Amino acid sequence: MADCLFCKIVAGQIPATIVFQDDHIVAFNDITPRAPTHVLVVPRRHIASLNELGPGDDALVGEMLRAAASIAKEQGLADRGYRTVFNCNADAGQTVFHIHLHLLGGRTMAWPPG
Ligand code: AMP
Ligand code: ZN
Repeated sequence: MADCLFCKIVAGQIPATIVFQDDHIVAFNDITPRAPTHVLVVPRRHIASLNELGPGDDALVGEMLRAAASIAKEQGLADRGYRTVFNCNADAGQTVFHIHLHLLGGRTMAWPPG
């Protein structure tokens, strides 16, 4: 998708601090971290929001979650805990329309989220 920020990061056209990548997924530090660890896990393929996921994407979403858990473990968060979030559309505050899983950790999280 030509004008998508995260497609450009995946393609290496916009710099990011990449913490993990494989054939399907890229994970990089959020530019405005909301916690000591704030990583975004994105698929290489453009999918605008959770609403556009199809049955063929089940494995991809599972890989995104397992990548987040693996990064959390690498960063020493597995035992103390962390949060993973997909925002979808306006009410949730989605601002970049290429699905991304937020991995947040390193501090205590409030519940419910604001
Ligand atoms: P959301 O509000 O769920 O759509 O999250 C989008 C996230 O992308 C926000 O947390 C932003 O801080 C983050 N973001 C925006 N631009 C960049 C960028 N160039 N590199 C890394 N993260 C970004
Ligand atoms: Zn995209």
